[in-house]
Amino acid sequence: MKLSFSPEDENFRSELIAFLDEHCPAEAKKNRDLIGSDCVDEDGIMMIPEWAKQWQATLFDHGWMIPSYPVELGGRNATPLQTMIYLEELASRGIPRSVHFGGYAIVAPSLLEFGNDAQKALAPAAIRGDTVWCIGMSEPGAGSDLAALSTRAEDKSDHFLVSGQKVWTSYAMVASKCFCYVRTDPEAPKHKGISVLIIDLDTPGIEVRPLRHVTGHAEFAEVFFDEVKVPKENLVGELNKGWRITMGSLAHERGGLWVTGVAGCQRAVDDIVAMIKRRGLENDAAIRLKVAKLYAQVHSLRAMGWKGFASFAQGSSAPEHSFMKVATSELQQTLFELGMDIQESGLAITDPAVAEEEGRWQNTFFGALASTIGGGTSEIQRNIIAQHVLQLPKN
Ligand SMILES: Cc1cc2nc3c(=O)[nH]c(=O)nc-3n(C[C@H](O)[C@H](O)[C@H](O)COP(=O)(O)OP(=O)(O)OC[C@H]3O[C@@H](n4cnc5c(N)ncnc54)[C@H](O)[C@@H]3O)c2cc1C
Repeated sequence: MKLSFSPEDENFRSELIAFLDEHCPAEAKKNRDLIGSDCVDEDGIMMIPEWAKQWQATLFDHGWMIPSYPVELGGRNATPLQTMIYLEELASRGIPRSVHFGGYAIVAPSLLEFGNDAQKALAPAAIRGDTVWCIGMSEPGAGSDLAALSTRAEDKSDHFLVSGQKVWTSYAMVASKCFCYVRTDPEAPKHKGISVLIIDLDTPGIEVRPLRHVTGHAEFAEVFFDEVKVPKENLVGELNKGWRITMGSLAHERGGLWVTGVAGCQRAVDDIVAMIKRRGLENDAAIRLKVAKLYAQVHSLRAMGWKGFASFAQGSSAPEHSFMKVATSELQQTLFELGMDIQESGLAITDPAVAEEEGRWQNTFFGALASTIGGGTSEIQRNIIAQHVLQLPKN
């Protein structure tokens, strides 16, 4: 059994660390479990700070944005193992690649897989962050059951006419384009009448209304479409075959997330231990027990993630990874709550002037409530595990 990295992979790691040391801005090194106060305007509405724009472009220009991609797409043809090293190194330092992941992580891979040549050409700007995208899937009547979506795109021979509403649309207030899932055939069975359109958000008839999280910050929105004219050439893939793209988009969203999730949990455990020492609580038996259990959980999850990765790298499926989103998002909530509890007088007060580490634990706790919902709720993930991993009958 080989439990070490090859010299090539260690060189890759060293090159990455040298790059981060030289180029990573101080703002990106701050704890970024959540959008920080410098990524919202004075009303708490999301904005993209200049440092974040420049950092994403720098990563792209140096081949460190998506290392597995070729140079022209912001990568360096890295192997899957090197990609994992990359994700772990960034996540263990709490360094984000971008403050809006939809474009580089979901839209660009979907365009490259399903788009025509003109649409594929939009991918580099999405990955570099020059174009900001949002993803219009969820609607008031279609979340977990995405196939129930009803935003209608009528075929008007030279264009589509789009009317309906999206909700929880991350980054819509800063995006210029929406990767939008619409119903093009209302008569077909619900999975079969869906298509994907690229919609420019400055088209007449679109209204974006920010929605606030429990943290008070708004980084998602409702998006209303009222007879919006969308050119025919903005259809991605085949008409009425959008469900396949949906599945691809969600897979892109979930792939690799476990690495970041586990590293984020590890960082939280390390920082909780530091806080316990700072506060002289090392001998508190209840706290010791809690943190020891959490430490063991993080290490079990990492081992499970690596096991799944080994199967995946050898061409097999990795059922372990279905469990990772549920486990890491729920573990994060427990960890951030403990970080908050330890502060006693700080408790749930998010005011950075009062709470330790500028309110980090309070803000991450409230923010992490969203992580068991976004990208598929924990209940839905458990249904998937029951059916597809444990082979239990569909309920
Ligand atoms: C931070 C954040 C960012 C988001 N960003 C985007 C975005 O950019 N674009 C976008 O389109 N959407 C986005 N979403 C929306 C997200 O995908 C949905 O919230 C999610 O799919 C759940 O849908 P819903 O909110 O309609 O809840 P519902 O589907 O109505 O579910 C309500 C509750 O019922 C449970 N439930 C539903 N069906 C079942 C079932 N079959 N079995 C067991 N339990 C069930 C759910 O688990 C949940 O607890 C975001 C959400 C969050 C929190």
